[in-house]
Amino acid sequence: MTKELRKILLDASSGRGDLWKETEVASRILLAGGYPGHNEDIVALEDVKDCIELENLISRGAWYFQETDTWKEEAWTDYCPGCNVAYCRGRYTTGQCE
Ligand SMILES: [Zn+2]
Repeated sequence: MTKELRKILLDASSGRGDLWKETEVASRILLAGGYPGHNEDIVALEDVKDCIELENLISRGAWYFQETDTWKEEAWTDYCPGCNVAYCRGRYTTGQCE
């Protein structure tokens, strides 16, 4: 992992700013590593320049970290402001409420 990417992930995982909770959780998982596919996820993110770009990229792709227990337990427990349903995947995957 590059120094730049580590800094972006640290920023995103701190919960500051306007990032989605999903981005914060993803950053924590990416920093911790230790799951199958971690290297592939990091390589795919190596060129991001800031937290916004990180969020855009993460929200569009399919990632190995999405298979981790941490992600399944933490990322989808907030309620969608659009439909007031927890686990609204549309909001995260396309940005549009389903
Ligand atoms: Zn929704």
